[in-house]
Amino acid sequence: MADDAQADCLFCRIIAGEIPSDKVYEDTIVYAFRDINPGAPTHVLIVPKRHIRDVAAAEAADGALLLALLQAANTIAQQEGLADRGYRLVWNVGPDAGQSVFHLHLHLLGGRPMAWPPG
Ligand code: 5GP
Ligand code: ZN
Repeated sequence: MADDAQADCLFCRIIAGEIPSDKVYEDTIVYAFRDINPGAPTHVLIVPKRHIRDVAAAEAADGALLLALLQAANTIAQQEGLADRGYRLVWNVGPDAGQSVFHLHLHLLGGRPMAWPPG
């Protein structure tokens, strides 16, 4: 496990390979894997390897890390054949948004039309 990883964090454990995941993308900063309970035909979680609680806890110094997540989303959308038809990127923050895992993650959802505003 990386130095900054938290032993009780589900996504730190997934990144460390202690819990299996269906990986779709990895680079030095980012790890991405399929959501275990998909909300769309494609539902990928894009996470920084470094533990940050959520996007609200990101700081100016994390700018390159946040850009790396967005660049990974672009790459994954192309890999999944979604670049032309479109997809949705979601950051859940806090209880009203239903955040359940407190390791920053970007949801990439696609493969079906999605209502706006979301329910
Ligand atoms: P949140 O609600 O915090 O924005 O999203 C957390 C997501 O993590 C949920 O969509 C949930 O289905 C997913 N998730 C929870 N536990 C696991 C797991 O063990 N493996 C994978 N692949 N996804 C998980
Ligand atoms: Zn973590």
